[in-house]
Amino acid sequence: MGDGGDSAFAVIRKRINDINLDPVAEYENQVERFKEQKRKSLDQWADALQRISQKPKSPERVAEENELNRTRTAVIQRYRAQRAELWREFVMRAWMLPMLLGSVSDERREEARSRMTKWLRHLDPHHPGAPDLMLSLENAMAQGFKFAANRRERHPFTYAGGRKDLVRQAETMLQQSRCWYAQLTLLQALCLWQIPDGPAVRKRSHQDTHAPPTTAIQTVERWLSMAGTAHAPAVPAGGDGAAARQPLHPFVAETADLVTLALETRRPERFIWIDEKGVADNIGSRNSGPQLYRKHNLWIPPSIGWSSLDGRAQRLVADVLVMMNLIERDGQPDEVEERLSRSQQPHMQLPPCITADRDPLHPDLKITTSGSPTPGSSCHPHSCPFQFCPYPPRGTELRAELREPFCRQQQALLPHGLMRRLPRVRRRKTPNWVGMRVPELHAFWDGMAGRMRGP
Ligand SMILES: [Zn+2]
Repeated sequence: MGDGGDSAFAVIRKRINDINLDPVAEYENQVERFKEQKRKSLDQWADALQRISQKPKSPERVAEENELNRTRTAVIQRYRAQRAELWREFVMRAWMLPMLLGSVSDERREEARSRMTKWLRHLDPHHPGAPDLMLSLENAMAQGFKFAANRRERHPFTYAGGRKDLVRQAETMLQQSRCWYAQLTLLQALCLWQIPDGPAVRKRSHQDTHAPPTTAIQTVERWLSMAGTAHAPAVPAGGDGAAARQPLHPFVAETADLVTLALETRRPERFIWIDEKGVADNIGSRNSGPQLYRKHNLWIPPSIGWSSLDGRAQRLVADVLVMMNLIERDGQPDEVEERLSRSQQPHMQLPPCITADRDPLHPDLKITTSGSPTPGSSCHPHSCPFQFCPYPPRGTELRAELREPFCRQQQALLPHGLMRRLPRVRRRKTPNWVGMRVPELHAFWDGMAGRMRGP
């Protein structure tokens, strides 16, 4: 279905009860219905418990009480499962929208565009109640833009008209994005659309013969000047009337450098990944010849693994995955949402447990019989407002478990042995956002590498 096209649109249309329904309202109504069902079931449970408690103590009464306890657990489990399933459906729908807009034929495009508008207005500060789109859905949609941007012009499901539309929508979304993950992802998407692709190069230069050529740095600076500005405080920061801005998130800043390199070299597969999990799971073959690219009509085919990525991109994707695992865990949508909103703090953009001291992450913890530790239970008590630690213990089902070769590669990227004695400027350094010593970061990746091994 990810291929898009009219047939995919037909399937999606059937799943949406009313094509004109507002997606956020639809989601919230459905959540209310599930809550109502749960409330009713628990009321029945409470009545039954009261009836039983009036009976004299007997083995039958104990058995009935046990049965009731099981019923209660089942009610709560069903509710959690319904919520998780509903959320996954909406994540999927948000993810597919940009691909549909990029692939449906002209007759369908109006409808696809109006669906997209219905979602995006929940990010628009001028829309009443907005921004009220769940951050996880904002991220899913940004991800969908990147998948759409990965299709080259000759891809059978690409329509040139849809492409222009998508770039415009992605730029609007970048302005209105609130989450660092969405911003990082949209920068990568815009970069893929910006790389000249086949005959379009000639067309473009023919149209703008009078305009001076734009450099990669200028292009990326323009994107950065948009990122998140729709929600910037309206109060001017200084006398120059410029709005006060949050400093860029370190992951967004690093992505900006990497997409600049992708534009300059026209080798996006070295600086951009499409799916974090896919690229970290897969070493990839080093001799990915041109046939591979032709076969998929994609800028970056799914078989590309981390070994094709530049070292800086490898380190960025690693820490993005660590952060996403800390946020997502095996949690419920509400919990994930809450952690996402905590994942950027006004005066601290990354947790000290990522930047300063990774000991509280304890990557080698195991799940115990008493269940998973509460997120935040091992964070620095006074200095960490994020409350994410420890890292989800071994045995937790994670969206992306980092495999041993990938973790060993993170160690290999660190300066070692003799190199550490070179003057600092000559050394390979730790990532920009990390302020700890090399042996400490080395030890962290050692712990991460050991997770997949036996007891
Ligand atoms: Zn922490």
